[in-house]
Amino acid sequence: MDPRYARQMRVEHVGEAGQARLGSSHAMIVGVGALGCVSADLLVRAGVGTVTIIDRDLVERSNLHRQPLFTESDADEKKPKAIAAKERLEVVNAGVEVRGIIADFHCENALGLIEGGGVPDVLIDGTDNFETRFLLNDCSVKLGVPYVYGGAISTKGSAAVFVPGRGGPCLRCIVPEAPDAGTQPTCESAGVIGAVSSIIGSYQAAEAMKVLMGQWDRVMGSMLSFDLWEGVRTRVELGDAKDAECVCCGKGEYGYLEGERGLPQALCGQQAVQIAGGGKMIDLRRLGASLEGSGDFEVKDYMIRGMVEHGGERFELTCFADGRAIVDGTVDVGVARAVYSRYISS
Ligand SMILES: [Zn+2]
Repeated sequence: MDPRYARQMRVEHVGEAGQARLGSSHAMIVGVGALGCVSADLLVRAGVGTVTIIDRDLVERSNLHRQPLFTESDADEKKPKAIAAKERLEVVNAGVEVRGIIADFHCENALGLIEGGGVPDVLIDGTDNFETRFLLNDCSVKLGVPYVYGGAISTKGSAAVFVPGRGGPCLRCIVPEAPDAGTQPTCESAGVIGAVSSIIGSYQAAEAMKVLMGQWDRVMGSMLSFDLWEGVRTRVELGDAKDAECVCCGKGEYGYLEGERGLPQALCGQQAVQIAGGGKMIDLRRLGASLEGSGDFEVKDYMIRGMVEHGGERFELTCFADGRAIVDGTVDVGVARAVYSRYISS
């Protein structure tokens, strides 16, 4: 018998039965940045039967301090993260079917990506922005697939699990609306410590294992947050956080899945893509302050504009007071969305 899982099976919560369930289950990880790298690595090593990873970005040098599946040569080759991760994970555990999908996960392809390879048993959040998180939450509630949330920024991180149909809340019961663009720190503006994302990714992997083994009474029923530098850890119990009036799990409206926010559009005849705003005015001075470390930006009452870098390329980014933005230098809406979420909206 392959001793690979011997120590894992010795854990009383796993055993032979748990290991068999892991081996016949399917985890989907959306976004293979720091959190996705860590959870994918752990779940592939743990012997989850199928692991699907979806990512739109290319490996960059600035990823390497916290994204443990990638190497300097991946960055020098600008390899798609979905491919670099798949190649790495396949040599870690040949017994796992690793699927790497290069795609920008958005409202028009989300259900197809999730259902296309057989609906996964868990959705793991490795994204960096609320728009995609709310889209994942819509998919989770609509399809009844548990959703493992995670976020990490600077020295702080948080994680939670949302299991549809078991009386608990969904993400939008707790966070009804996305924060206004430009009001939240991003990894670009505030940075992130690799140890923080490693811990959150590990929490996500452990919770995913509980979900995949059907240990519902063990699944974390709280939002766990901590600041690694301050040594502060908090748990907010979510047992009675379900909101009957929740737009998503209460009313069954899947606005993010239905694309009510408007899709990014390539602008006719230009090397540019327009990203629709969230319908709310944003504070451009505040956004300008958060972008200070990312380059020279021209800040006016009605817009902010500057050159930014992503994937080794440079783009001109213009953001208007209504949250709308134009990414100049590409016709690829996935690249434009990546630039937008990196600099404007987390
Ligand atoms: Zn809800």
